[in-house]
Amino acid sequence: MDAPTLLFSEPDLYLQTPAGNRIPAHATILASASPVLQNVIKSSNRIVKIHGVPDAAVTAFVAFLYSARCTEEDMDKYGMHLLALSHVYMLKQLKQRCIKGLGDRASTENVVDVLQLARLCDAPDLYLKCVKYLTNRFKAVKETEGWRFLQNHDPCLELEILRFMEEDEKRKRKTRKRREDGRLYTELSEAMVCLEHICTEGCTEVGPLEVEVGRGREPCSKFGTCQGLQNLIRHFVTCERVKGRCLPCKRMWQLFKLDSSICLRHDSCKVPLCRKIRLRMEEEKKKGDARWEVLVRKVASAKAMSFLALPKRKRVEEIRGEGQ
Ligand SMILES: [Zn+2]
Ligand SMILES: [Zn+2]
Ligand SMILES: [Zn+2]
Repeated sequence: MDAPTLLFSEPDLYLQTPAGNRIPAHATILASASPVLQNVIKSSNRIVKIHGVPDAAVTAFVAFLYSARCTEEDMDKYGMHLLALSHVYMLKQLKQRCIKGLGDRASTENVVDVLQLARLCDAPDLYLKCVKYLTNRFKAVKETEGWRFLQNHDPCLELEILRFMEEDEKRKRKTRKRREDGRLYTELSEAMVCLEHICTEGCTEVGPLEVEVGRGREPCSKFGTCQGLQNLIRHFVTCERVKGRCLPCKRMWQLFKLDSSICLRHDSCKVPLCRKIRLRMEEEKKKGDARWEVLVRKVASAKAMSFLALPKRKRVEEIRGEGQ
């Protein structure tokens, strides 16, 4: 019998709700929708009992069996019951619909219940979504009845969630640190480019002896960094304090040292002290400074990355020394 003919035929069994109400239905439709119902029908006396959900949820369930559709209103009201039923009766399509529907409807009030149900119904995606939701709003969720109930009745799950939150915090801290480090390496690599440019072409206030610099000169494209660097160089040159004790001098010295560490052309490099520092570092290298070496590697790669990010034409100009 095809579906339209079937709908006009007499129902041949009943679904019995927990309250004892009977909903007439067609065995063929139920059996084709769910392998579990197929087995139940075989062994039942034309009455299939549904347990543990309100009558209206059974009605919504039957509506899905017939139409493969579930209204938003049914999802609002019976989403959790429908998820349980879809799991028990192995209705893949309804289960997916409920996982999505309940995930979208997670709230401070219901998240703990949905999370527990997701775990029972073997819905890992929904479980994860709920744990993340809970983690982000834990302050509010821990005041709910649901959380208190879970604490009293399922300490293992509570522990599992708290562990997840701890791991999540660690992950976030790591990401923050990586981002901050990345910013630092980029800033330093930009400072290296500017230092080379100031010492080779000169910027507004500082430049090599043979280049005339002055306030009349136009600020360059990296002027934000160049300006601070020029101030630092001027300070370094004129400062009379003991170099090791003056913070700006120390910073400038680190930049010279960094330039020398990543410089690829010591012989022609115009950055002051480049060659000298290199020779000195070669001597000191035998002692080894792992942290410094990591910094040098990271800044060098940040510099290479920013170079690769340039359009090809600009890259060729830079290689030829026509840049800036
Ligand atoms: Zn400049
Ligand atoms: Zn100083
Ligand atoms: Zn150099």
